[in-house]
Amino acid sequence: MSKSESADTSTKSTIMSAPIKRMPQLALKATSKIPPKKSQTLIRLLSYLKPYWWALLLTIVGFAINSGTEVFIAKLLQYITDAINQGDRTKQNWFPVLIIVLFVLRGLGSFLGNYYSALISRNLVYELRVQVFNKLLRLPTAFYLANPAGTISSKLIFDVEQVTAASTDSMKTLLRDGLTVIALLGFLLYSNWRLTLILFVVLPPILWLIRLASKRYLKLSKGIQQTMGDVSHITNEVISGYQVVKNYGGQAYEAERFNQTSKKNLRQGMKVVVTNSINTPAVQLLMALAMSVVVWLALRPAVISGISAGEFISYIAAAGLLSKPVRSLTDINQKLQKGIAAGESIFELLDEPEEQDIGSQQPKITGKIGLHNVSLAYPDGTLALSNFDLTIKAGETVAIVGRSGAGKSTLVNLLTRALQPTQGQIDIDDIAIDDIKLDCLRSQIAMVNQQIVLFNTTVANNIAYGSLASRSREEVIAAAKAAFAHDFIMKLPQGYDSHIGAEGLQLSGGQRQRLSIARALLKDAPILILDEATSALDNESEYYIQQALDNAMSHRTTIVIAHRLTTIESADRIAVLDAGRLVEIGSHQELMALNGHYAQMYERDFADDRFEGANAIDINEMTR
Ligand code: ADP
Ligand code: MG
Repeated sequence: MSKSESADTSTKSTIMSAPIKRMPQLALKATSKIPPKKSQTLIRLLSYLKPYWWALLLTIVGFAINSGTEVFIAKLLQYITDAINQGDRTKQNWFPVLIIVLFVLRGLGSFLGNYYSALISRNLVYELRVQVFNKLLRLPTAFYLANPAGTISSKLIFDVEQVTAASTDSMKTLLRDGLTVIALLGFLLYSNWRLTLILFVVLPPILWLIRLASKRYLKLSKGIQQTMGDVSHITNEVISGYQVVKNYGGQAYEAERFNQTSKKNLRQGMKVVVTNSINTPAVQLLMALAMSVVVWLALRPAVISGISAGEFISYIAAAGLLSKPVRSLTDINQKLQKGIAAGESIFELLDEPEEQDIGSQQPKITGKIGLHNVSLAYPDGTLALSNFDLTIKAGETVAIVGRSGAGKSTLVNLLTRALQPTQGQIDIDDIAIDDIKLDCLRSQIAMVNQQIVLFNTTVANNIAYGSLASRSREEVIAAAKAAFAHDFIMKLPQGYDSHIGAEGLQLSGGQRQRLSIARALLKDAPILILDEATSALDNESEYYIQQALDNAMSHRTTIVIAHRLTTIESADRIAVLDAGRLVEIGSHQELMALNGHYAQMYERDFADDRFEGANAIDINEMTR
């Protein structure tokens, strides 16, 4: 597959991956930090092993026993051969017993080694995963805006697993095969150091071959990782977007796209196999060359003197036993590299700056809001708000109107500190919001977002979510009633205890919206923010909810980004936003008298409604 084709696939998939949120503006990698040194990543990974030193010790003991038995197996061959040659019958009965003892020991050793190294690696998975997840809970909104959900969750699921598999695999190999090689080499040197030196001659070319192979392997495995990413990416898109795929006949396109990516993955997988399949016999051939020289020399008494048949056999056996662990050790580098690459990706996330909370004040908010010369530019440069000035009195209701993209959502997201202004100051009750403790701030603002989020739990738990969990069932029901949700909830199979997301329980857009309004009403906070909270409702529900909201709004500060005339008209003031600027502010009458943006909007979109009595026209949609 050519480079251009691969670039093509990834571009498409990035665009497709943003069905709700906008396109991720900066990928994780774009944070212009210098990548850490590989050795640093490795040291940091190793630091996770510290609490498991005892398990590491047991692993070493296990593998030491295991490799010791390898030597004894070679040694046993010597005794047996010599006993046969000398016709010595006295020891014969011992050999079968010894064989069994050796293998029992060996089994015990390898069990210890395998068990405790697995114990370390499973604990490492657990710890890293919990750490990454807890980190996710503390990351600022900006992080979520910049990184697609798929990338984040793949870190939690795949990278953690990979780092552990790779790092503990290499540790295991290093211990098991490293110890075996040391033991066998020690035995060979002890038996006949001259012959053994010949074996060392082939070491440099073997190492060279290994380097060559592992370099290629690394390159290929990066490619495989990327194509695997694409595979899961496309799968995710097709699963979450199945309706669009079906309705727009996207099957052929998706099938082709998936096929291409999978094929690329297949090809790279095969290249790895080829590399391995050439490398292994090449290393073995080199070993065989050295062995043949050893055998040739050993058969010449002039060169090697005074060697018994048994000694010779055990020597050759030990040299033969060497090839397997040597080959495993050659794989260690690629495993390590893979682990380090995954480790880098995880540590990058763990090192992300967390949501700042330098505030210490915990006031009981009355609801006065001041925005002073506030501007906000998104990382991609979009100026969403510029020089915005507005003071909202406690208890006031302010409607915000403006075209789609005018900056309304951006404005309200500043108040919960989901976004940080690039310029200007925001205060609540005359306290800069940065000085208010984050928990305290957020607990006193109830917000219904444009994107409705429901969790995979019961209806009641969805309304009484998070810090609202302690609210009584009566309170939940009262909130649901106010949000005009009680009736439909009671019609669900288990009422308030019905699971959302469970099979068969699919709620309509309007029903979901009503649940999220109920959640906000239950919060009963001094500041209520509704960001297009009634957009998915039909006229009737909207009418009833409006009354509930009127009640709710009457004794708290409310910012309502509204679609409908009734809501807008009944607000104390209306702020008209255009391209991030506040262009008009005032009551309905004042703005009509002004005969500016609002009046124009009103004439265009609502003039007819009054006569028909339908207030359901979506003003933001209409002014697009
Ligand atoms: P509204 O809620 O009025 O429809 P928004 O506040 O959502 O408008 O958006 C205001 C402007 O900021 C738009 O031009 C939009 O494209 C841009 N914008 C919103 N979110 C982001 C983001 N995460 N990254 C870059 N630009 C954004
Ligand atoms: Mg919006």
